Amino acid sequence: MKLYEMTACEAAAALRKKEVTSQELTESVLERISGVEGIIKGFITILESEKILQEAKKIDKLLAEGKKLSPLAGIPMALKDNICTQGIPTTYASKMLENYRPSYDAHVTEKLKEAGTVLMGKANMDEFAMGSSTERSFFHPTRNPWDISRVPGGSSGGSAALVAADEIFFSLGSDTGGSVRQPASMCGVVGLKPTYGLVSRYGLAALAPSLDQVGPLSKDVRDCAMVLDIIAGHDPRDSTSAKSKDNYVDYLGREVKGFKIGFPKEFFGEGLEEPVKKVIMEALAKSEQLGAEVDEISLPKTPYVLPCYHLVVSAEISSALARYDGVRYGFRAREGDTLSELYRQTRSRGFGSEVKKRIILGTHVLRTEHYDDYYWKALKVRTLIKQDFEKVFRDYDLIATPTSPTTAFKLGAKNDDPQTVHSRDNYTRAANLTGIPAISIPCGFVEGLPVGLQIMGRPFEEGRMLQFCYALEDMLGVKGYKPEISVEGGH
Ligand code: GLN
Repeated sequence: MKLYEMTACEAAAALRKKEVTSQELTESVLERISGVEGIIKGFITILESEKILQEAKKIDKLLAEGKKLSPLAGIPMALKDNICTQGIPTTYASKMLENYRPSYDAHVTEKLKEAGTVLMGKANMDEFAMGSSTERSFFHPTRNPWDISRVPGGSSGGSAALVAADEIFFSLGSDTGGSVRQPASMCGVVGLKPTYGLVSRYGLAALAPSLDQVGPLSKDVRDCAMVLDIIAGHDPRDSTSAKSKDNYVDYLGREVKGFKIGFPKEFFGEGLEEPVKKVIMEALAKSEQLGAEVDEISLPKTPYVLPCYHLVVSAEISSALARYDGVRYGFRAREGDTLSELYRQTRSRGFGSEVKKRIILGTHVLRTEHYDDYYWKALKVRTLIKQDFEKVFRDYDLIATPTSPTTAFKLGAKNDDPQTVHSRDNYTRAANLTGIPAISIPCGFVEGLPVGLQIMGRPFEEGRMLQFCYALEDMLGVKGYKPEISVEGGH
């Protein structure tokens, strides 16, 4: 077994037993990157090998001196390129911020640095995290390691593909409507969107601030819990940051007998591909074998999730992205005699088409004469959707659904058709609108492509969610399957 094939937890255990050094782990990952990154293209920026190795050696030294660092000290990882890294390009995959080097670290970057993890680079994504395929990156698309003619999902597609391709041990992504879970599902890795407020958004580029959360993408459930242990916790710099941190690894291995799991019938109807449904139903049957009680439930407001999400997201985007005007920072168009012409030119040329479309839609719904009909109504519907979930959670511990209605689709396939695009994250948005935690774990394959099971839980009950997923992961027996990355692609 190559070092880069290990999980983060296995690598960390080998480090502690002094069987390997962080330098060796990093060299192994660098070798893997030079072997497959030309095909996968999961990074926007890879840091200089010299600098990365220096960092790894520094950690080795600290560990040798007996300094107490986190369990993940010395482990190579990557961050989505909308998470600020001091002095290191943070482009949001946009022309607008192509040359932006933040003067500060995001909260999660600080946490991972303090923990002694080794940053390898910044992962590709859809521009400003808008999209579900990573094809909307200003730089280049990323390929799915399971079949390089297919997308890795998005918007955290780089973060997911890099983990699946063993180019890093874990990564962080961001999730506003499914952007951690959907690519995790399509790349066969674990992806978690924490409860709103559990992880600080300080230094994360705002897309829709009432929905955004940073979350881990990892090779298995244990790694996910280990990363969450590091990044969760209160931060006064984010006014929505909560004080509800738990010890997530402690939950792993506990009994799950008697857990009550509901599967909402609205998530199993039209649009869900039959073979995907079959894999999910098999996973639910395995949950019963673990001693969980699995029942069909109903979330009747589900049809309103899509319109509600789009109104809220667009409104917040139009306001959050107003700051990119060519004056303060980022790209600036050189033409324009007046200030408003400078704004217009900068924003017309700096943003890609999806970003512009959402800004225009958001500006429209926020206009005084439309506000009550659209935005205000959407907020009311959001409350009704939340009540749907609260009702279910009175009787059930967890809700299980497919993460995505399909497996990974072909690069370039109908990716501009709004109907197709929006149906792709039909199952993931509700967790953002309601703020609850949700995770995707690999649960099987359809024609060689991974399928993800989504598990949602009560607010701040990530511990119990991970406890259940850990037991189920073992039962499912799909952990450890690896893609064979081949230039031929296709299945
Ligand atoms: N695909 C969804 C969208 O484009 C989700 C985006 C996200 O979670 N960042 O709105």
